[in-house]
Amino acid sequence: VNKCSLSSTPKENGTMTSLSSDAVINLDIGDPTLFQSYWSKIGDKCTIAFSGCQSISYFANTKNLCWFLEPELEEQIKRMHRVVGNAAVEDHHIVVGTGSTHLIHAALFALCPPDGPEPTSVVCAAPYYSCYPEATDFLRSGLYKWAGDAQTFDKDGPYLEIVTSPNNPDGTIREAIVKGVQEKLIHDLAYYWPQYTPITCCAHYDVMLFTASKCTGHAGSRIGWALVKDKDVARKMTKFIEVTTIGVSKEAQLRTAKILGVISDSCLHPGSNNFFEYGRRRMAGRWEKLREVMGRGKLFSLPEYPQEYCLFTGEYSESQPGFAWMKCNENIEDFEKFLRGHKILARNGSRFGSDPRHVRASMLCTGEEFKLFIERTCLETEERLLQN
Ligand code: PMP
Repeated sequence: VNKCSLSSTPKENGTMTSLSSDAVINLDIGDPTLFQSYWSKIGDKCTIAFSGCQSISYFANTKNLCWFLEPELEEQIKRMHRVVGNAAVEDHHIVVGTGSTHLIHAALFALCPPDGPEPTSVVCAAPYYSCYPEATDFLRSGLYKWAGDAQTFDKDGPYLEIVTSPNNPDGTIREAIVKGVQEKLIHDLAYYWPQYTPITCCAHYDVMLFTASKCTGHAGSRIGWALVKDKDVARKMTKFIEVTTIGVSKEAQLRTAKILGVISDSCLHPGSNNFFEYGRRRMAGRWEKLREVMGRGKLFSLPEYPQEYCLFTGEYSESQPGFAWMKCNENIEDFEKFLRGHKILARNGSRFGSDPRHVRASMLCTGEEFKLFIERTCLETEERLLQN
């Protein structure tokens, strides 16, 4: 018997499909469909049209170091960082990419010396985002190679550390681990937005990566941006994008500019539906529900996050990450396999340099998927309680 009461689950509009109660739910990927309901309510405010003769050229602004960056996107990126207060833009160059995935490759290329005796080691503290090892070693570059967990790395010579904060998969706030003189840093701040975490300072690192995917939810537009302090590094990143894709889609850039503009407006005009407040409420509702269900038994556990003062909201709050980093407390060797048996697809902890007793499950899924996730987790928890 399912004893869970789901009546308090918020009604969510804009979900894409109707799932049957025994459907497999995919929480392996972090597809940010959660935000779709906000954009449905916004209506035509973000709609833009292109005529056949518009945006034809490769070039967007030949006076800019990043010559394919649309000036409107540049302006709206700067405006939004100023409104939110999460990152310094005044003394940084902006490089746009096809998602921040593209920019991770560009930053690796730009930061690793071309003439080193061996490939530069790339590290990140475990648990790390599973795409970093994949992206680093995919082309077997002579410039860089994946060297695993930053916490155990002790090799001499130049190396590059990726700092993800808040971290994917476990949502923790991070600083660089290995503080050597020959260290280069990439700060991946994809989740440093108020819907996920309190904004505690205006980040001012050398290379900071952001993405529309996690900020606005428009993963399909494939727009990411890097804020880069050093001109030569920004130039090299631009070169990488020039050689790999000769720039970034203008349609996607202009659409993103429009969306960022609408978000900034929503924050500045009282009474309009503040995007980040909406996101915070939705994430908080989901986390509350998940913690409540998991708290009923001892089968799974979740990380705890400290209360921090958020400069954007002016309130104390805790992080409510885009992923649930779940730990299985019972004698189940492979937590991912166990969940798959319950038709829940989540990513195995071993993919993040951790262990198979952990999984990462997306909290950004559709309302229907989340409802099924809670129902199934709840059932399993209560069955175990009855058994014990
Ligand atoms: N960095 C982190 C930490 C991420 O979680 C993601 C998306 N899952 C990315 C980068 C890449 O985002 P995108 O390519 O969609 O911009």
